[in-house]
Amino acid sequence: MQSVYPSVFRLSRGAGANAYVVLAGDTSRAALIDPGMPWDAGSVIGELRRNGLLDKVTDILVTHADIDHVGAAPKVQAATGAAVWLGRADAEVMDGTRRASTAYRRLLGRWHPGPFTKGLSLLDGGEEPFPGVTCLATPGHTPGHMAFTFGDVVFAGDAVLGTDHGFRQLPGFLTSDPTQALASERLIAGLGARWFCPGHGRVRELKAL
Ligand SMILES: [Zn+2]
Repeated sequence: MQSVYPSVFRLSRGAGANAYVVLAGDTSRAALIDPGMPWDAGSVIGELRRNGLLDKVTDILVTHADIDHVGAAPKVQAATGAAVWLGRADAEVMDGTRRASTAYRRLLGRWHPGPFTKGLSLLDGGEEPFPGVTCLATPGHTPGHMAFTFGDVVFAGDAVLGTDHGFRQLPGFLTSDPTQALASERLIAGLGARWFCPGHGRVRELKAL
């Protein structure tokens, strides 16, 4: 685990999307953000256990329902009993009650991470699913995409990526709604947060983007 910010860590295993841990003020509780690919579950659980955090994970916050972010969530939930939080619209796409907006996303939508033994907790934006963590509706990459803020940190998922030259949108074939995606990029840029923790790539200082 790598320290990113007080009470914020990035897990060190490299497959799937970046996974982060946030500790609540008294360190008695931990939230896991984006557990990663289905086959990452064992290494995520092992890393949490080695760091004395496995028993502390009460919440799994998922930015969106792509396999590289949500895939490990069912197994980590089974190992911890944590609540899994996901944007409502993404949960609907995952369950087949909402049609994905692009052909590629309809193909991705045929995959489901498996049963959530303790169910899903749905987000619409604006909730505080974990002490000090606020969720922010950032649709575009997916219809129910959520970013999370904690202090001076924003966890952006795949709403937007960072480069040495500024923000970068993900490829169009992965984008449900390009207009919404640009609006979400502006929302994140305008937060005034200092640390940018993306779903892919390294943590960056936001003012440098
Ligand atoms: Zn994604």
